Amino acid sequence: MKRIKTTLFLIIVCSGSIFSQQKVDKVILNGKIITLNDQQPTVEALAIAGNRIIELGSNQRIKKYIGKNVQVIDAREKTVIPGIYDSHLHVIRGGRFYNAELRWDGLTTLAEALSMLKEQALRTPKGQWVRVVGGWSEFQFKEKRLPTLDEINTATGATPTFILHLYGQAFLNKAGIQALSITGDTPNPIGGLIQKNPNGEPTGLLIAEPSAFILYSTLSKLPELTMEEKINSTKRFISDLNSLGVTSVMDAGGGFQNFPDDYQITDMLSKKGELNIRLPYYLFAQKPGTELEDYLKWIDMVDISDHQTDDSFEGKKTEYHVQGAGENLVASGGDFENFLKPRPELPPAMENQLKAVITELVKNRWPFRLHATYDESISRFLNVMEQVNRETPFNGLTWFFDHAETVSDANLDRIKALGGGVAIQDRMAFQAEGFVSRYGKKAALHTPPVRRMLEKGIRIGGGTDGTRVSSFNPWIGIYQFVSGKSLGGLKFASSENQVDRISALKIYTLGSASLIHQDNERGMLKKNFLADLAILNSDYLGIKEDEIKDIHSILTILNGKVVYGAQEYQKLAPKIPSAIPSWSPINFYGGYQSH
Ligand SMILES: [Zn+2]
Repeated sequence: MKRIKTTLFLIIVCSGSIFSQQKVDKVILNGKIITLNDQQPTVEALAIAGNRIIELGSNQRIKKYIGKNVQVIDAREKTVIPGIYDSHLHVIRGGRFYNAELRWDGLTTLAEALSMLKEQALRTPKGQWVRVVGGWSEFQFKEKRLPTLDEINTATGATPTFILHLYGQAFLNKAGIQALSITGDTPNPIGGLIQKNPNGEPTGLLIAEPSAFILYSTLSKLPELTMEEKINSTKRFISDLNSLGVTSVMDAGGGFQNFPDDYQITDMLSKKGELNIRLPYYLFAQKPGTELEDYLKWIDMVDISDHQTDDSFEGKKTEYHVQGAGENLVASGGDFENFLKPRPELPPAMENQLKAVITELVKNRWPFRLHATYDESISRFLNVMEQVNRETPFNGLTWFFDHAETVSDANLDRIKALGGGVAIQDRMAFQAEGFVSRYGKKAALHTPPVRRMLEKGIRIGGGTDGTRVSSFNPWIGIYQFVSGKSLGGLKFASSENQVDRISALKIYTLGSASLIHQDNERGMLKKNFLADLAILNSDYLGIKEDEIKDIHSILTILNGKVVYGAQEYQKLAPKIPSAIPSWSPINFYGGYQSH
């Protein structure tokens, strides 16, 4: 009898605590809510308790939750979507530099780009640079061409200037050449070219031949922001991601980004509960030849199974942890994605180096991702993985390829057999013209073969590869997969390789979550899923195709909290501090230049 009483008491106490956890604190009404849940594709309203969605349905059904201390958000018939999940963004590195950069992302004329250069050169103090670090291509401009070195010099004068164009080349103005002490005698780095004029003087053009090391390493010589500025810069960048509806990012590491030293800012923001994005991140081997040592050291330092999820933080913080290894596992496996140059042939030493690293990762149950642009490289990587799998079985280990633009059908089957996925990006939006002129129209029709991946049931996630190659705006990728077009308007994809708008959105939400098996709680608006969502400025399913790339959020909710608001929702959102230093281009132009 005593035992029964205790059990009853426990039931009452437990259900009491469940009830208090389920206390609704927000409802969204009058929405055109795209849930991406095939069982309940659209609803008018939903209710949020803490960091979870607890109910969806008609206005009438959700209105019953309205009461004291419940925030009512009127979506005013706008489209609501699950938060975007960018599965490939260099956000930690990007945040450290964001306030120092002039972004040409989204600009539509070269004339505007040059006038921004001119204005920014005038306000940039002595000792600092004007820098445009990727995120654009000449085809997005009405003029359909690159700036010339003369135009850049005229616009910028005595202010040192660095402009990165994809991972193919960089422009330095005369003041920049001088500031870096580059002369006719400066030797070319391996895989790179310092262009010289007939007199043997540097012209200002740095070319990846095909290695991007010359571009990366030059950029790393430019002055960094101070610690205080980097913290502000990271917050500004994340806020701009929130303004595009992004709530989760998988960070893909990066060159010149050392662990743990270069993670201090995001570490600190996470500790203070000020990291307004979910951020699992990957560790990227830094030095050619010592990759295995890097990974052995990190395997020792980091308990990969100890993920601090939102639940362990009682819903107060978003997750931030080492998710695995990559996207660079061994430098000899780096097949650079510069479609203007011939495909690089990987050295014969690659296989043994990669095998040693992957074997350790599998043994220690470390998930990994691997940069792989071309099918030829993918074949060789898969040979290595299949060999490792025979000796040390993968046994369900989470892994995926990044990019995979030209992956073949046969290799897709091999990826699936090994339990892998593919993270795809919007590279063709920026580089389709270059790809077509090198490989022909036919080769571009299925690049990347997104429909074949979907048909085969391979896990695929969408991403941007911002900020140095592509823009950080995920809507460019969604636009590319829906329209089959580049930013320059070239229709390169076959109609069989285009996807409908719902499928494209799924790739950039649920798909990314599925890459690392998080699709049981995010990527859809569904009962008990995480409350990550965005109210959009326009009607995603109804607007013209060309307008998709300029979609943004007017209200973004992450983990049940409003993190961004514009227009009528601005008052619901935390204030965004202005960028420091005060001359930061972000204060004058913002980040993505939408029209
Ligand atoms: Zn990559």
